[in-house]
Amino acid sequence: MAILVVGHKNPDTDTVASAIGAADLYSKRGMEAKAVTQGEIAPETAFVLGKFGVAVPEIVTDATDKQIILVDHTDISQTIDNLDKGELLAVVDHHKLGDITTAGPLEMWVWPVGCSATVLKSMYDFYNVEIPANIAGIMLCAILSDTVMFKSVTCTDADKAAVEALAKIAGVSDVMALGMEMFKVKSAVDGASASELVFRDYKDFDMSGNKVGIGQLEVVDLSMLDAHKAALQAEIEKVKAEGRHSVFLLLTDIMKEGSEMLIASDDPAVVEKAFGIATKGEPVWLDGVMSRKKQVAPNFIKAFEG
Ligand code: MN
Ligand code: MN
Repeated sequence: MAILVVGHKNPDTDTVASAIGAADLYSKRGMEAKAVTQGEIAPETAFVLGKFGVAVPEIVTDATDKQIILVDHTDISQTIDNLDKGELLAVVDHHKLGDITTAGPLEMWVWPVGCSATVLKSMYDFYNVEIPANIAGIMLCAILSDTVMFKSVTCTDADKAAVEALAKIAGVSDVMALGMEMFKVKSAVDGASASELVFRDYKDFDMSGNKVGIGQLEVVDLSMLDAHKAALQAEIEKVKAEGRHSVFLLLTDIMKEGSEMLIASDDPAVVEKAFGIATKGEPVWLDGVMSRKKQVAPNFIKAFEG
């Protein structure tokens, strides 16, 4: 039975592309592996896979009796169900270390870079394995997506170098044009329900015993969301009522390089503790804030601690 390579819940382009790439690399290392996802892929990812002619992975949600490789996360709240009833062989990631543990030794490839696909590019190089052109293409898009075309504070020189090398392999001459095309697909909100939009890129965290959800929508122009804001606010109130302390939704304008944050919280004072901006629950503008991982989740984790 093939090893399953899987990323986090609510799969984004990096989670899917890095699972596909890691499955290719591990298979070529002699460990037969297959990429899967925990759920339906987002429109941006569908565009990327279609663009490079890569098949959409099958959905698998249970790890019982399976060998598993995780990409793009190490948090129990984001991982495949019953991971503890399977066997975790390896992790390829670029986030803070989560709360997953193992009974046996494992491979850990966890680097502080902007994208799991950047780590994976170095792994291909380490094992001297050629990256297929179509996989190079989706990995390149994953890096452009996670680093918001190099604008995010999470972006490193390693990410830029990886994009340059992957573009050559994939035969992409204008990476920024490809990035804009991809973000326009990601920005398309008309026709999607409020629930689809909130969960398109959403993560639950445990913050000092409080369940806190943070979603993010990245658009090329925030005014595209004006007509949807009331419905999005109502939706996060609903999600909060399902047993969470807070749900925050970041509406990130990638051209203005900041985020408007919608708030549903038992205690909106945590927003002031985290960002120094007072609110009774009305939305706040966070200038320069584009990264949930580096600029939002850590501030809230601290705010909930004290
Ligand atoms: Mn991800
Ligand atoms: Mn990622």
